[in-house]
Amino acid sequence: MVQEKIIGRFAPSPSGPLHFGSLACALASYLDAKVRGGQWLVRMEDLDPPREIKGASQHILNQLEAHSLCWDGQVLFQSQRLDAYAEVISSLKEVQLAYHCQCNRKRITELSGLYDNHCRTLDLDGQNNATRLALLHQIDIISFDDEFIGHVSQSLRSTVGDFIIKRRDNLFSYQLAVTVDDAFQAVTRVVRGSDLLNSTPRQIYLQQCLGYKQPSYAHVPIAVTSDGQKLSKQNLATGLPAGHESSNLCVALDWLQQSPPHKLSSLPTAEIISWAIQNWDQNKLPTNLTVPAPKGF
Ligand code: GLU
Ligand code: ZN
Repeated sequence: MVQEKIIGRFAPSPSGPLHFGSLACALASYLDAKVRGGQWLVRMEDLDPPREIKGASQHILNQLEAHSLCWDGQVLFQSQRLDAYAEVISSLKEVQLAYHCQCNRKRITELSGLYDNHCRTLDLDGQNNATRLALLHQIDIISFDDEFIGHVSQSLRSTVGDFIIKRRDNLFSYQLAVTVDDAFQAVTRVVRGSDLLNSTPRQIYLQQCLGYKQPSYAHVPIAVTSDGQKLSKQNLATGLPAGHESSNLCVALDWLQQSPPHKLSSLPTAEIISWAIQNWDQNKLPTNLTVPAPKGF
């Protein structure tokens, strides 16, 4: 049997430096690809200029390198991919799967967030309007087997409705860009935080609309603060402590329940990574969707 080449990826947004949760996620996706002899790509999701922190992309790449998380090939920047996203939207419009929507935020809020397809048949133009993807009548429930979490199933119609693929301010949506680029980069395996579990069915639906191959998905727990909030670039100004990379890696391995031996933290990062590749056991991963971040992070 010819084994499929494994291609994993890490796709940070440059809204701030890596924090503990994003390091753990990068590490899990790196190890998941490397234990299978696969490639590990990095894609910078710099699609939202107002939310971008100047210099954050380079800082994140430096942080990954400092932790010996070295990527294969060149980093793909989503800011360089706008033409490709526009082309995909045109092709969806051609087959009447995408349409423009003029509804304002107030109207959507009144609908409790679930869009009622109001503009589907209005044939509006793109000027100052958002673009939505129409859910075809015959497709509603999207199911997939998450490698870490198990069976997941979501009714698109009752949870998200026709969803936005391009915003009225002309920014392409995360759902669109991530789907187009996972296919463009031939990603076969997506390992990422469980906060994106609810987005996966939308991405699978987009893959079906576009005739893309579906990668396999594996969602790891996200690190949360003591009051249950996701560690985020927004609520954590400092990022990972520089100069403590070996220790950061060991704390992350421990948090992922890989039982790193105590003495490992005195070794250089590259040696910790090779220990981790040899000893990675996905069955040991915590099965909760959230896990408190370690003390001090
Ligand atoms: N850019 C997203 C984030 O930083 C992750 C996207 C993904 O892994 O699909 O949360
Ligand atoms: Zn509308």
